[in-house]
Amino acid sequence: MILYMNSTFSTRAKEEMCTYPFEKTCDMASEIYGILLFASVFTKREIRIITANNCFASRLRKLFGNVFDIEIPLRQSSKSRYVFNLTDKSQLSRIFERYSLESEYSHSIRLNRAIIEDECCINAFIRGAFLAGGSVSNPKTSYHLELVTPRYNLSRELMALLMDMELEPKITTRKSSYVIYFKYSEAIEELLTRCGASVCAMDIMTAKIEKDVRNKLNRRVNCETANISKTVGAAVTHIDAIKKLMNDNAFDALPESYREAAKLRCENPEFSLSELAAMSGVNKATLNYRLNRIKEAAKRNTKEESQ
Ligand SMILES: [Zn+2]
Repeated sequence: MILYMNSTFSTRAKEEMCTYPFEKTCDMASEIYGILLFASVFTKREIRIITANNCFASRLRKLFGNVFDIEIPLRQSSKSRYVFNLTDKSQLSRIFERYSLESEYSHSIRLNRAIIEDECCINAFIRGAFLAGGSVSNPKTSYHLELVTPRYNLSRELMALLMDMELEPKITTRKSSYVIYFKYSEAIEELLTRCGASVCAMDIMTAKIEKDVRNKLNRRVNCETANISKTVGAAVTHIDAIKKLMNDNAFDALPESYREAAKLRCENPEFSLSELAAMSGVNKATLNYRLNRIKEAAKRNTKEESQ
């Protein structure tokens, strides 16, 4: 599987995983197992792993050195890609023996759960699989983590493994490959933490909190904007009515309390009724009544004019 790591977050996650210490041989072997199952070529005649990630390239060499005492020849195929090629028969058969593999063809390669029974080995296996065939999108854009393989059996068996871990993966096809993916931030956090990328997992958590806060703020701002336009809308009708009465020389005929309410309204068009009431010293209902009476008076005048 050729991986184009154009996502910075993905690269960062892999770099963090690559700092995971080499402790137990069972875990190093399990990590290699994950890498091999997601390698570009994994047959009895050849193992080929291609990556653009520097850290992964150097970790790969250390892993094979530690577990199999094999020095993998490293080739830089282009400016940004490393190709690991293993064709030596005895080295290949040592690797195949370690994982009890018989198959000649990469497409029939299956996941042997007996190799990764312990929790530590499962986590190491997934780290290897992710390093060789995974990617994760920047949580600021979307929550998406995927593992891609052209091998049908492997895709189904990996699904089963992830479901046993209660991670609820989904599967789809892309071109001739199977894509196992996660859309839930919690599952992505869990998976990255298990693989040893807990800082990236924390970044996802932080991004989620930031998003939540921003959404809440937006909702509040929208709500306040709606209230302001409602206030302004009401003020405009009142002010129009007052102007109309003034133009018609009907304003002075209004009771003094009404005129005071009108003055207050015109002087403070941005205030809500409650704020105006607080300023005027009368209650909101009374003030509203007076302003509405002004509106009605203006309407009556308009009707009389049109008759
Ligand atoms: Zn282990």
